[in-house]
Amino acid sequence: MPGTLYIVATPIGNLQDMTARAIEMLRSVDVIACEDTRHTRKLLNAYDISNKLVSYHEHNEQERSDELGRLLIEGKSAAIVSDAGTPGINDPGFRLVTKAHEIGARVVPIPGAVAFVNAVIASGLPTDSIFFGGFLPAKTGERKKRLLEVKNIPATLVFYETPHRIEASIEDCLNVLGDRKASIARELTKLHEQIITGKLSFLRSSLSSARPRGEYVLVIAGDGGTGEAEPKQGNIADRISELEAEGMDRKSALKLAAKEFGLSRSEAYRDFQNQRTDN
Ligand code: SAM
Repeated sequence: MPGTLYIVATPIGNLQDMTARAIEMLRSVDVIACEDTRHTRKLLNAYDISNKLVSYHEHNEQERSDELGRLLIEGKSAAIVSDAGTPGINDPGFRLVTKAHEIGARVVPIPGAVAFVNAVIASGLPTDSIFFGGFLPAKTGERKKRLLEVKNIPATLVFYETPHRIEASIEDCLNVLGDRKASIARELTKLHEQIITGKLSFLRSSLSSARPRGEYVLVIAGDGGTGEAEPKQGNIADRISELEAEGMDRKSALKLAAKEFGLSRSEAYRDFQNQRTDN
């Protein structure tokens, strides 16, 4: 019988966010694969764990997955951890998990911290539908192209960012997405944790007053989410006529106007009927 691969989340800053189950698993497996053995050794020392570590990072992912796969085939158990948070989330892990499935090993996630989830829940933006885009491209041209691709996604947008790119990224978000509501989560769970909320223009000005440091997650309202634009005021029947005059059919015009006025489609239809009768 092949062994088990445990995907073990570790803290994103605060050591106390290590779960009891994570500690138990890291103690009991045959080997722990990690990005940086010195970094993980410090974490293990804090919990009196003296298990065997092997390095597993983006440059040796394929080779190590094969080696660890062989151990799993022999019935051994392995854990994978990353430098911070959940392995596989913008960190190595994916190849080893694929390998484990291929050889019929059991794959068990041990849940814990993930930076983007905590940034979203603290942002005050809708959490019912989320688009996690990992890191935005480093170069402005590619970044703007990516932002154009996600502009119309009706879900809260979330990106990881580095301190030296956060300002440029916010500037590009502002230009491509408009002045949407947003939030920055900085240094989550650490001493200098900070959650800033406001429109993108506000976030830009709050960042420019201090040299950005630390780790950042950028959360932005999705298309049609709260904050892209204030709901339109005025006569919805006029707006629907205007859209129809531009060539839109009645159904699409009603749908778009409802969105612009911040109404459900049935509310928009009711107002449309009433206002048409009044005119
Ligand atoms: N595996 C990690 C997770 O589960 O969130 C993500 C690793 S990714 C290589 C590192 C990025 O995650 C950072 O550049 C930052 O955008 C984000 N991040 C990690 N820790 C964070 C923290 N404490 N506060 C804010 N962002 C953090």
